[in-house]
Amino acid sequence: MHYFDRAHDSGFKAKAFGRALDVVRSTPDDELEQRADAGTLTELDGIGETTAALIAAAIHGDADVPYLRELDASTQVPITPEGRRYRDALRGDCHLHSRWSDGGAEVEAMAATAIALGHEYMVLTDHSARLTIAHGLNRDRLEQQLDVLAELNARLAPFRILTGMEVDILEDGALDLGEDLLGRLDVVVASVHSKLRMEQQEMTRRMLLAVASPHVDILGHCTGRMIGRRPPSTFDADVVFAACKQFETAVEINCRPERLDPPGELLDLAVAYDCWFSIDSDAHATGQLEWQPHGCDRAAKHGVPLDRVINTWPVDELLGWTELHPSL
Ligand SMILES: [Zn+2]
Ligand SMILES: [Zn+2]
Repeated sequence: MHYFDRAHDSGFKAKAFGRALDVVRSTPDDELEQRADAGTLTELDGIGETTAALIAAAIHGDADVPYLRELDASTQVPITPEGRRYRDALRGDCHLHSRWSDGGAEVEAMAATAIALGHEYMVLTDHSARLTIAHGLNRDRLEQQLDVLAELNARLAPFRILTGMEVDILEDGALDLGEDLLGRLDVVVASVHSKLRMEQQEMTRRMLLAVASPHVDILGHCTGRMIGRRPPSTFDADVVFAACKQFETAVEINCRPERLDPPGELLDLAVAYDCWFSIDSDAHATGQLEWQPHGCDRAAKHGVPLDRVINTWPVDELLGWTELHPSL
C-alpha cells in the first residue's frame, strides 16, 4: 500500500490491494502458508492472481518481485534539482499522524519509514480531541501515547520520535489542549479545521491568538484550502505572518498534494516577512511520508532561505528553538 499512498492513488488497484490486505490480516498465518504452497490463495475472497503472487513471495521471504519493482519505479515522487537541495537538507518531519487519530499506520511503521527515508527524527502530531471525526486524542489518550513513545524511543535510538500534537485552533483562538500538556510536548502544530469560512477580521484574530501562544511552534496549513474542492480561508496575511515572525512560530509548507498550503502568493509574503518555515508531509500513511519533495520544490521556487527551514536543523537545535518562544 506504501506505493499507492505516495502516488496518492485511491483508484481501483489501490482499493483491491486494501481489500486483499484486510483478508490477509484476518487469515491465520499457517492457513496462508498452506494455501501459498497449494496455490489456492485465489480461493480466498478478494485475492486475485497478482495479490496471490505477492503474498506467496512475502511468505517465502522473496523481496525481489518484478511487479513490486515496477510499482516502486512508477510511483516515485518526482523532485526538481532545485528542490533536491532542500530535501537533502531535511533531517525530519514535523507533522504526521498515526492510527491514534486518523492515520492509517501504527507509530512504529511510520518511524520505520521515516528512518528508511534518512530522517533523524519525526514529530508525531495526532489530532486533538475537538476533531472527533479524526478520532482526536483527549488528555488521557495523549498521556497514554506519551508513555508509548517513551518506550519506542528507547528501542529506536538514535532515531527520535518527538512528542507533539496537531492542536485545533478553536473558533475564539484558544487551543484545544490544556496548558500543562502543551508545555510537555516537544513540538506543537496549531491548525484551523472548523469554520474556515469565518469573516476575515475574526479569522485574523483567531489565528493571531494561536500564533502568539508561547506553546505553538508551527502554524499548520494556514489557509485550509483543498485544491479544486475548498477555497482558501481569508485572513490578513500581513498581520498573521508578521506575528509568526515576532512570536517565532514557523509557517508550515504543507506537502499534501491536495493542500499545497500556503498558496504561492502567500508563500512569497511569508518569505518577505522573514518567517521560519517547516516543510511537513502531514502524512496519514507511510507512503505519504515521501511527499516532502512537493514542499521542497515550492520552497525552492519561492526562494525560501534554506537556513529558515526549521526541520533542516539538528534535532537539539530544533528543540532549543521550540522551547524558547517570546510570549505576549
Ligand atoms: Zn490539519
Ligand atoms: Zn495533519
